[in-house]
Amino acid sequence: MKIWLDGGLQHIEAARVSVLDHGLTVGDGVFETVKAVEGRPFALTRHLDRLARSARGLGLPEPDLDEARRACGAVLEANPMPFGRLRITYTGGVSPLGSERGDHGPTLVVALGEAHRRPDSTAVVTVPWTRNERGALTGLKTTSYAENVVALARAREQGASEALFANTVGQLCEGTGSNVFVVLDGEIHTPPVDSGCLAGITRALTVEWTGARETELPLDVLDRADEVFLTSTLRDIQSVHRVDARELPGAPGPVTVKAMRIFDERAGNDLDP
Ligand code: PMP
Repeated sequence: MKIWLDGGLQHIEAARVSVLDHGLTVGDGVFETVKAVEGRPFALTRHLDRLARSARGLGLPEPDLDEARRACGAVLEANPMPFGRLRITYTGGVSPLGSERGDHGPTLVVALGEAHRRPDSTAVVTVPWTRNERGALTGLKTTSYAENVVALARAREQGASEALFANTVGQLCEGTGSNVFVVLDGEIHTPPVDSGCLAGITRALTVEWTGARETELPLDVLDRADEVFLTSTLRDIQSVHRVDARELPGAPGPVTVKAMRIFDERAGNDLDP
């Protein structure tokens, strides 16, 4: 396996970043996960735009997106696989042991792993912790993901594969690595970005392609939604058959199936929508 680091390809076993990298010591970094089908990245321009937006939000130096694009191409070419996940990580770089960032310059790593195609319908649980819709990191895809790690572990303990958060005012927000959609009376709704969720790329494409509405939704909408589904880069659209103790028999329901069909058609015709 070859990855990109310090401006070129390196064997993963030989690639080293400093133990003082601010990404490691304080989670001062941003990242993207990009799906790659037969060696070709999907929606790479949107991912690179979001990487730059997240970096700006953290006050990191502007990332060199041409290098990041070249790095993705080089890593994909060096490691052929039918279905992969590129991971672009961009951190504050070597810094003193404290919150302040050093002047060493940022670190860019692009790695690749194997991934699975769209998973089957799943169970989700709600968690007692909230997303902060007004935090300094809200809406940024930073490497500070430990809260998601904890919530996902809670979901796994309960036989589910994803955990859903409400925000501090009790509105439905998002999952640990996904956005959430509900179907009410045949119409698709998803929480707006100011609920505190990540502006998911799959979410944006789903809204654009299916006409889903962005609606503030109380958490208990999950008790009455006719259908529920998740979106993310590696899921595309994943239907939900159980929310906490509530079963949603027959998932995926007809509206979800139609959304999946539309998504597949559009995504199949345009690799960089
Ligand atoms: N929310 C969070 C917290 C995520 O980590 C992800 C995965 N990147 C998403 C939503 C879905 O975003 P995308 O469709 O861009 O993968």
